[in-house]
Amino acid sequence: MPQVRTRFAPSPTGSMHIGNLRTALYEYLYAKSKGGAFVLRIEDTDRARYTEGAVDIIYDTLRLTGIKHDEGPDVGGPYAPYVQSERKNEYLFCAERLIERGAAYRCFCGKEEKGEDAKNAEQPAKYDRRCLRLSKEEIAANLERGLPYVIRQLIPEGRTAFRDEVFGEITVENAEIEDQVLIKSDGLPTYNFANVIDDHLMDITHVMRGCEYLSSTPKYNLLYEAFGWDIPAYIHLPLILNENGEKLSKRCGDASFNDLIERGFLPEAALNYVALLGWAPPDNREIFTLEEMAEVFDVNGISKSPSKFDYKKLTWLNGEYFKNMDFEKFFGMAFPYIERAVKGGADKRKLAEMVKTRVSFLREIEEMLDFVDAAPPYDTALYTHKKMKTNPETALSALEAVRDNAGRLAVFENAALYEALTALAAEKGMKNSQLLWSVRTALSGKPTTPCGATELMELLGRGETFGRIEAAITKLKGELC
Ligand code: GLU
Repeated sequence: MPQVRTRFAPSPTGSMHIGNLRTALYEYLYAKSKGGAFVLRIEDTDRARYTEGAVDIIYDTLRLTGIKHDEGPDVGGPYAPYVQSERKNEYLFCAERLIERGAAYRCFCGKEEKGEDAKNAEQPAKYDRRCLRLSKEEIAANLERGLPYVIRQLIPEGRTAFRDEVFGEITVENAEIEDQVLIKSDGLPTYNFANVIDDHLMDITHVMRGCEYLSSTPKYNLLYEAFGWDIPAYIHLPLILNENGEKLSKRCGDASFNDLIERGFLPEAALNYVALLGWAPPDNREIFTLEEMAEVFDVNGISKSPSKFDYKKLTWLNGEYFKNMDFEKFFGMAFPYIERAVKGGADKRKLAEMVKTRVSFLREIEEMLDFVDAAPPYDTALYTHKKMKTNPETALSALEAVRDNAGRLAVFENAALYEALTALAAEKGMKNSQLLWSVRTALSGKPTTPCGATELMELLGRGETFGRIEAAITKLKGELC
């Protein structure tokens, strides 16, 4: 068995699309799961779509996600160069061999692609093979005159069948396939040609790519056959749909990997989520590191039905990553946000501990902690809570009880405070929720806080706690009496 070799072959046309990242990830996982090699190849022969800086985005994304290639333009390897625009001669050489074998021909018609009329027609016209009928002498004369030309693949008669590991058996009538352009008049290959040549020359054993390439695969196979080369295994990946059920695409403004990072998703959470778009891991497990994914990745888990990009799920996953993150790492990331929200002396590490299990995005921290320096103005309606069985009257008695028993709250530490306050509630014939909800509201002025009443007391300290309780009593009395 030859060593498994996969490749990620992006075209540098802009940002890293989610679908591309998924392809890169699956190719990496498949290679790693088989102890094989993962190759990066830059497919930049479409100069019209080439975008400055796009290659760096590819490198940066791979680096950020930890998808490390074994061979490629920046790390070298036995098949260098790995940038297609630097391999022009290989493609020309191969195209000439195809002409010699009668599997390709020069076309001087001046059509790189189908004309506008053909594009707009319901049944796009195929190239009519006019140049196939040129005699040797006519071709030589055209070349002598320096007429520009393209090289086209000559599609033979018959039908082409192949097996895709995800989509199964696929058969196409060759009559439906056009004599596609292999080499353009600028001497550069089309993607359709270069990918075949490179996959062969780079010994790629498994080709993974989006299912939009399924229909082109027969013509690639005809090229492999014309050369007498082995055909790689194919693993086409399902569509990714946006939340409206449309195909996820840059053109529709759907997010790229970079957009996700800018929106506050962690690279590792985004990568983990992308893995789940089309692959069902064993045991329905959902949270994985890259290494863990590589251990269990299996092509049988890839589905052919489209998967939907679900921001809610990704947001949940992001929160899980914060929860599971090493505390020091989280503290480093959260610190600037905490510092913006809290100018006073509250313990910032404690604040980080509190918010760590509650944030989906770091930017939520500021709002979560906006009560720490001073209780924000609030409405006494906040004391009314059906489930907690509270209202301003019960709150007033609860807060007065706490104030009057301040002497019993000797140790200002969460567990001791909890014990003392629940004992006090029992003595006063109140529910714990009535007393604790009232204290929490008085201390924070908010319906949700990153921790419970007694943790808040510990955080604020004795002086601040009783100051806020006193202020709340005054406020409640003012409204009730
Ligand atoms: N350059 C192609 C793209 O970016 C790669 C397709 C393939 O993997 O063969 O879509």
